[in-house]
Amino acid sequence: MTINQKRKEKQREWKRKNPEKIKSYLEKARSKRLKGRFPYWWKIKTKCLECGEVFLPEIYNQKLCGKECRNKFYSNKKKYRAYINERSRNWSKRKRVQVLEHYGGKPPKCAICGFSDLDCLDLDHKDNDGSIERKKFKTSEKFFLWLIKNNFPEGYQVLCKNCNWKKYIQTKKPE
Ligand SMILES: [Zn+2]
Ligand SMILES: [Zn+2]
Repeated sequence: MTINQKRKEKQREWKRKNPEKIKSYLEKARSKRLKGRFPYWWKIKTKCLECGEVFLPEIYNQKLCGKECRNKFYSNKKKYRAYINERSRNWSKRKRVQVLEHYGGKPPKCAICGFSDLDCLDLDHKDNDGSIERKKFKTSEKFFLWLIKNNFPEGYQVLCKNCNWKKYIQTKKPE
């Protein structure tokens, strides 16, 4: 046995004899690691996605309590995909609200009639009917992301579906 192996063996034995101390050390390291970067996160208890048990996260944004739950969760592809879809839906919803709130106030309202149902509101380019944007970005999600990345360029307003349609007809009339 080399010196290193001997030292490791000793460490292992000490760990076996003092589980409580190890636990407190780990806890200290955990709070120290998370406290600096995420001052609130480290003491927020999270519900495990797999077993539903409440636990203290070891790393930022941890959603599964341990190795067992993690393996179980990722091996169930249907559940995993549903979770990912739900998360991305929530994410794009948040981005959409962020953009609408910037152009339409808090909570967002239609610039013409004042209607404030989020599902019926849309972003409108003041100078045209928006088809140019739709062609350029393909999805409204990409368009919203572009707006956020470019620090909300001017020239847009929030309109409800009714007022949008009205504007579309009015701008089309002269033909
Ligand atoms: Zn769990
Ligand atoms: Zn309106």
